[in-house]
Amino acid sequence: MKRVLVIVAHADDMEFMAGGTIAKMAGLGYDIREVIATNNERGTLDPAWDARFTAETRREEARRGAAVLGVDPGVEFLGYEDGRLSETPLNELRERCMRALRTHRPDVLFTWDPFAPYEEHGDHRSIALAATEAASFSHFPLYHPEHAQDGLAPHYVGERYFFAKSPRDANKTVDISEQIDRKIDALCEHVCQMEMTVMEAQAAVAASGLDVPFVSDADPTDYRPLIEAQINAWAASVGKRAGFAYGEEFRRQRFGGMERWLPGGEGLPDDV
Ligand SMILES: [Zn+2]
Repeated sequence: MKRVLVIVAHADDMEFMAGGTIAKMAGLGYDIREVIATNNERGTLDPAWDARFTAETRREEARRGAAVLGVDPGVEFLGYEDGRLSETPLNELRERCMRALRTHRPDVLFTWDPFAPYEEHGDHRSIALAATEAASFSHFPLYHPEHAQDGLAPHYVGERYFFAKSPRDANKTVDISEQIDRKIDALCEHVCQMEMTVMEAQAAVAASGLDVPFVSDADPTDYRPLIEAQINAWAASVGKRAGFAYGEEFRRQRFGGMERWLPGGEGLPDDV
């Protein structure tokens, strides 16, 4: 059985960027785990919420969203401050990611693409670089040899799926036509984030001067129709290019690039 580790910055990153693919892999019996770097404590527009309440709420929503996708045995939190991950030294964050890789020993890593353009969120850029570097060197015993004292052996990560809001060099589209509803279900477990998504869309529509009653008249607590519209349109535009009703796309690297040079390498199995 293959193991998957998802390393992200925030509670809903996985659901947004790879929820359909994760649900599909879970359906194939993969063992899937998630590491979330921050406490998510700044993810609210509600002035009545304090950081501790926001962090606790989002931790619970992360567990529920992951469970809907079939992430099992579950979610681990690294505990860094939301919105300030870039202030953590890269070496420290990379060590935490390498420790996670050596602990969970995944065949497949999912994370943000450190080389995709236009990523505005510093937390995404930081975890992307740290996780990618960690996966490049986690099989080198002299990178953090102290891990051996905790019984953690070097580990080679064979496949990496990178996701991005503006993907560059995407080379893998996963057909998520059968998982699109599960992806939306999982996102809808992130209640406070989905309410915030509606409020942000309303702010955008108001600022634009457009007349879009579907958005401006929406009740943020009844967020599902707007989330469905957003996710369906995005997944349909990605899927269309590959001939699928709905898709998610990735820049994928696997087995050190041997697909390109090993005779027969292009015939490597592809599960999704
Ligand atoms: Zn995020």
